[in-house]
Amino acid sequence: MTWTDRQRAMLAEMGLAMWAPPSSEALAQPVVQAVIAARTEAARVQPERPGTVAPTAPVAVVAAPSCAPARPPAPAPAPKRVTSPVTQRPGEVALIDSTSSVAVEGLDWQALRETVAGCTACALCTGRTQTVFGVGPAQADWMVVGEAPGEQEDRQGEPFVGKSGQLLDNMLRAIQRTRHETQPDGSPAPPSHQVYIANTVKCRPPGNRNPAAEELLRCEPYLIRQIELLRPRIILAMGRFAVQTLLRSTEPLGRLRGRVHTYQGVPLIVTYHPDYLLRNAQDKSKAWDDLCLARRVADEAAAAMPIGA
Ligand code: URA
Ligand code: SF4
Repeated sequence: MTWTDRQRAMLAEMGLAMWAPPSSEALAQPVVQAVIAARTEAARVQPERPGTVAPTAPVAVVAAPSCAPARPPAPAPAPKRVTSPVTQRPGEVALIDSTSSVAVEGLDWQALRETVAGCTACALCTGRTQTVFGVGPAQADWMVVGEAPGEQEDRQGEPFVGKSGQLLDNMLRAIQRTRHETQPDGSPAPPSHQVYIANTVKCRPPGNRNPAAEELLRCEPYLIRQIELLRPRIILAMGRFAVQTLLRSTEPLGRLRGRVHTYQGVPLIVTYHPDYLLRNAQDKSKAWDDLCLARRVADEAAAAMPIGA
């Protein structure tokens, strides 16, 4: 595979122009037979979108090579389960499990959005300009999960519209993915190229502090319902709060990336948060590997089980 001029330009936007293209050998290697599970509950819950990865059958975490030439598979332990969704810090409330106070069962997109807009389940409601629900086509195959709205997101009501959002969009563009229904050239983007973006918490933490354990817990049901409604083929968990919420793992992010996890049967790739990448440009190459891995996993899942099949 060779990069087109456009792709090179995209990579340059990420600061990645120096990287070697993936070898055809690496690209050809099957990495995710294991992620193709039988259709189960989600197909029953959402029959209008059959064929996506089943959310119940847990799939083995598999070692996965990056876009770089294939490495021998590394043993991939299952994510460590913890009793609290987040690492408890001084002053934070200890939480036992992901029981929630908000009822989201059965809500469709519109009802869910309205419920979030009126939510007062945690203290973050007092400081917000508005809730930041999520953005992207409802039929998108991809889901990106970030952390929390910042100042600009709070003002505009859309996730990732600030500086880290620009980087995220550039990263997605580098793999021909978009939060819009159309590509930058105006042509329609197929669902396989569309990305839905949501945050782990929907309201801005004051002063852009980290979300607290209780806030993450209170907000979690909304994210879970978004995933149920979207039924993505691939989830990209960006940063430690997304990872802690979805994988219940407190392992360092660097140890979780580079392989395929699953969330309710949906393949999940861990990667760095764009804010972190803005401060640590040397890790952009790893983020690029993660994106390539996600694309391969999603492509293989789509090939094995096309929508409507
Ligand atoms: N960082 C996030 O995690 N989400 C946003 O929406 C903006 C910045
Ligand atoms: Fe509700 Fe989530 Fe906002 Fe807290 S952060 S008020 S749980 S929407």
